[in-house]
Amino acid sequence: MKDTRLDEIWKSVKGELEVVANPSYFKAYIPGCYIKRIDETDKVIEVTTTSEFQRNFVEERLYGYIKEVCAKIIGPEFRLMFTVTKKEPTQISINDLGPLFKQDDNLAEENAFSKAREYGINTQYSFSRFIVGNNNRLAYAVSTAIADAPGKIYNPFFLYSSVGLGKTHLIQAIGNEILKKHPEKIIIYKTGEEFLNEVIDAIQRGKGNSTKRTALKKKYRNVDVLIIDDVHSIAGKDATQEEFFHTFNTLYMNHKQIILTSDRPPHEIRTLEERLSSRFSSGMIADIQKPDYETRIAILRSKNEELKLNAPDDAIEYIASTVESNIRELEAKLLQTVTTARSQGQDLTKELASSIMGNIEKQKQSRITYSSIMREVAKYYGVTIKDIKGSRRLKTFVLPRQVSMYFIREMTSSGFQVIGEFIGNRDHSTIVHGVEKIIDLIKTDFDFAKEVDQIKNNILSSD
Ligand code: ADP
Ligand code: MG
Repeated sequence: MKDTRLDEIWKSVKGELEVVANPSYFKAYIPGCYIKRIDETDKVIEVTTTSEFQRNFVEERLYGYIKEVCAKIIGPEFRLMFTVTKKEPTQISINDLGPLFKQDDNLAEENAFSKAREYGINTQYSFSRFIVGNNNRLAYAVSTAIADAPGKIYNPFFLYSSVGLGKTHLIQAIGNEILKKHPEKIIIYKTGEEFLNEVIDAIQRGKGNSTKRTALKKKYRNVDVLIIDDVHSIAGKDATQEEFFHTFNTLYMNHKQIILTSDRPPHEIRTLEERLSSRFSSGMIADIQKPDYETRIAILRSKNEELKLNAPDDAIEYIASTVESNIRELEAKLLQTVTTARSQGQDLTKELASSIMGNIEKQKQSRITYSSIMREVAKYYGVTIKDIKGSRRLKTFVLPRQVSMYFIREMTSSGFQVIGEFIGNRDHSTIVHGVEKIIDLIKTDFDFAKEVDQIKNNILSSD
């Protein structure tokens, strides 16, 4: 039988297949296949493919269809045989390669991996490693929906929570998933601070010529997905807010996905321009709450397995019961406990976990200094340590000042006199008054109490 006849037969087979087989399988796996031989004596039809991967797929998923169609066109007595005929690279046409490229899982994964690195995304942060609990269910649902259809439904997506509760993990997981599902999309992941520095750099170095700024605009306005983590860092910075405002508008108008995170909702970011906070609030806002006990256990168990730590259940339960408000800390405690037990050559029990954690806590408390407290308070309120120590009585400075007094007193048990000397040489009674004021506010104002809790969390997790 001549080759052209085989071609004709294969064309007919393909025509029928196209009707009966799953269209996406047909498009992805049939190009490159052809009938190489029909053996009339042994009654064998040899269908050949371009790779083992393609052969396995066709054999597993399309066998039934091909068999049926061949029975109709060539004869029911023929058996099917699938082989691989590798073409010389130069002979492989783009059409043959194209769909296979996308469908080949290993290859797609490799591509996604190198792209993730280029875009600033950590491939460790995947949806599959993210434990879903009552505290993050909505945030998770929105994130997966965005990964399916970026720019289509929830735009912008604004995610907030206090530190260590999974914001960065979740938004990077969106990035990773988009790279897998929509490899053609261009993504940028940056922290607010990185964005800020880039703008400052472009302004400084671009003095007298605008190429740098133009390059920056082009870079950010040409993406399909823009992810800015901890966006509150740009608050109060005029040029950066201006730049971001225009970038936001351009992307938004072109239906490009924008994802932002912060430690509080847009309208509570004090020095953020109104035109930005209203835009940040115009799409979907979700938060992540502290994980409940069951979720904390689930997270620890999954870490325990993933890292093969072999921590026993009661030690895990103990750790879960002591750390409530920060998952990063939860994971760190598990690791520290396991490592310490191992270095002491002991089996990790609940008792050992408890004593190790007591020591860790003591060390940590001793690391907290006046400066580290004031640094976190200043950062939270968008003021400087100088403002806190200074004498100006503006409301924007008085509150952070009193909050600093409160935390120094609470976390270091220092005397009022010493605290007063440190915070701008104030007298004993000013400090007493300040601390009491904050204690009262915490009791009466729920939102403020949450704020204080968050700042405390920041102080505890700063290094
Ligand atoms: P944030 O950005 O809110 O400060 P991260 O995303 O950095 O918090 O999370 C802190 C750590 O906790 C990371 O190691 C992250 O993988 C882990 N983590 C947070 N939430 C979860 C979760 N739901 N499941 C598994 N790990 C989590
Ligand atoms: Mg983060």
